Amino acid sequence: MELKNVDAGTQEPKLDRRSLLKLGVAGTAALVTTSTPAAKASEKGIGTTVYDDFPYEVSPDYKRFSEYNSVFSSDYRKGIPFDKPFYDDSRPGFSSSDYALSMASTAVWLSPSIPMNVVHQPHDSLPEPYKFPDNATAHAQIKRAARLFGADVVGITRRDERWDYSHVYADNWNLDVDVVPWEEALPGFEPKTVIVLGWEMGYEALATAPSQISDATANNAYSGLTYVLTQMTAYLNHLGYQAAPALNGLGLNVPYAVAAGLGEANRMGLLQNYKYGPRLRIAKLYTDLEFDEYLDKPVSYGIQDFCENCMHCADKCPSNALTHDIKTRIYTAEDVKDRPFTNPGVKKWHFDAQKCHDYWIDSGTGCGTCIAACPYNKPDFWHHRLIDRLNTVLPGPLHKFMAQMDLWHGYGNMFDEKAPAVFWDPKGRSYDGLKG
Ligand code: SF4
Ligand code: SF4
Repeated sequence: MELKNVDAGTQEPKLDRRSLLKLGVAGTAALVTTSTPAAKASEKGIGTTVYDDFPYEVSPDYKRFSEYNSVFSSDYRKGIPFDKPFYDDSRPGFSSSDYALSMASTAVWLSPSIPMNVVHQPHDSLPEPYKFPDNATAHAQIKRAARLFGADVVGITRRDERWDYSHVYADNWNLDVDVVPWEEALPGFEPKTVIVLGWEMGYEALATAPSQISDATANNAYSGLTYVLTQMTAYLNHLGYQAAPALNGLGLNVPYAVAAGLGEANRMGLLQNYKYGPRLRIAKLYTDLEFDEYLDKPVSYGIQDFCENCMHCADKCPSNALTHDIKTRIYTAEDVKDRPFTNPGVKKWHFDAQKCHDYWIDSGTGCGTCIAACPYNKPDFWHHRLIDRLNTVLPGPLHKFMAQMDLWHGYGNMFDEKAPAVFWDPKGRSYDGLKG
């Protein structure tokens, strides 16, 4: 496995500016602490640890999660919708125009041009499935294609059945039908590889959370990912391989993203990417294209260590859905007997999805306050990245100070209705509202 010219954050070729921050000081890696007894660290750089295997402890009695138990499914059975957006022209971020923007952002997502969560078969463009010259080339080409189609991050990992739902809704968005076992929903499909894709949500738009504007950037990310999945599915089919595209369907995105080296699981239970923090939406593509060795590896930047000393997301959560536990831990079946939406057996921070979804319905938004409050939720300015890098090697108590500095500098100021509801293109292309 050759990782020397690969950026550990994006798992893509190193960027020069980032490389500067990676150079450094032998021995500082020894300061990095992890709570990952299940994994063997295979490589270390300054503030970075690469693992050979899934980095979080998994209980021997861990069971696959059924999509039937997701809070969206159980609330649907109680007559509670996925969301309940509303508009109010007297409230910043909830104008009729903001509402229309949010609704419009779902257009591609909710009307995909190919069905999600099903297997798409190879085309006959080529006489036989294309064989890449070697795995490294395949790895690079797949990532280039995903980036060309608009993904902000992409990682490649093995299919791991633990992270696939035991039972799925095979018909996307139709929760009126019964769930069926994963293998029955995708008969004969034996994926070898999962390509994990991330799409950035706009920083300024998300900073207005909870609002219709922050919803718009989240919805837009799902629409963007639907587009990338559609094109990537076609690419793999033209190469002669099967592909099953999924947003949140078919399996759990966060463990797959962690396994694919895209970041760590944070206090919110979301992916914390080095470049974008939690400000990513994630999707995945299962395929029978096999990579024998050139797969991405899980990477730690000490983010879980930082989360132990930072409670911003939990402090700002309006529904108290996020835990203030300092350490991650494995929940048992007894711990979650009243919370079927929580799957026990993995060492992590667990959140209360029911409280979270209740707030979505009460507020008329998809919330996102926790993501906007996170100190890692910063645009990619060099001084922010330098501070993030320092965080990976500083001892724990200093993380409290670093988190406090974030507040002193005016970040994490949520529920401020006076904050200007301006926003920028999520891909960083600034524009003038009058000149286009
Ligand atoms: S989305 Fe809102 S309600 Fe849900 S966990 Fe985050 S801050 Fe709390
Ligand atoms: S706000 Fe703090 S505790 Fe929450 S995910 Fe971000 S760094 Fe971790």
